[in-house]
Amino acid sequence: MAEAIRIDTLDIEFKEEVLDKAPDANFDLCLTCGTCTGGCPASEQFDMDPRKLIRMLNLGMDDQIRKSDWKWVCSMCGRCVLACPMKINVPALIFNLRASVPREKRPKGILGSCDQHIRTGSAMGAQKDDFEFTVLDVAEEIREDYPGFEDLFVTVDRKGANMVLNQNSREPVTEPEEMGPLWKVLHTVGADWTYPSVMWAGENYCMFMADNEGWKYIIEEFAHHVDNNLKSPLVVNTE
Ligand code: SF4
Ligand code: SF4
Repeated sequence: MAEAIRIDTLDIEFKEEVLDKAPDANFDLCLTCGTCTGGCPASEQFDMDPRKLIRMLNLGMDDQIRKSDWKWVCSMCGRCVLACPMKINVPALIFNLRASVPREKRPKGILGSCDQHIRTGSAMGAQKDDFEFTVLDVAEEIREDYPGFEDLFVTVDRKGANMVLNQNSREPVTEPEEMGPLWKVLHTVGADWTYPSVMWAGENYCMFMADNEGWKYIIEEFAHHVDNNLKSPLVVNTE
């Protein structure tokens, strides 16, 4: 008869590291029910399996976990935590797995997007002047081409607007007309809003790749601009 594995006798270092940073992650409470895996949108990538990841963590398979590519296919959507009957925080594990990889060894695409954001204010590397030009140009086209939107009001850095809206930088760079539908909705409901010019992009690849310093820098620059320059009480991030 197979012998039971006693979890309390295993040498489990990585789990302790993660629990130091996320003490309420509840890894020991996993029922292996598989609900997390059933709803995981990444589960078809590299056979991603959050249930198995938790089992590996609890069994001290630290080397295998650290080497696994699963940490890079998770979208950090949080669906697993919402569905989990024990509220086990899989994204906290994923985040700390990413953070355990030396920065220069994290995936090039994500790393490059994070660096661009820190340098220019957007992951696509668009400068704020180009962003403002594109936004105002597309707004002018809409005013000219779409009846009912002749007085569409789109601004960048308008002080005192009630709401500051972030914008995924992919749209102004590759599909500018895709910004229009949201503007029309805001116009129709009479929203008082503006784009910011500082850290205007809504995406945050530094957060995604677990670069705490980069993520913090982006948010602090953005918050400082909103609070001190624009003096707007509300921020909406569509990402
Ligand atoms: S849903 Fe929660 S309890 Fe069920 S296998 Fe996943 S982590 Fe474990
Ligand atoms: S947070 Fe990651 S592991 Fe959890 S459901 Fe989303 S993609 Fe899957």
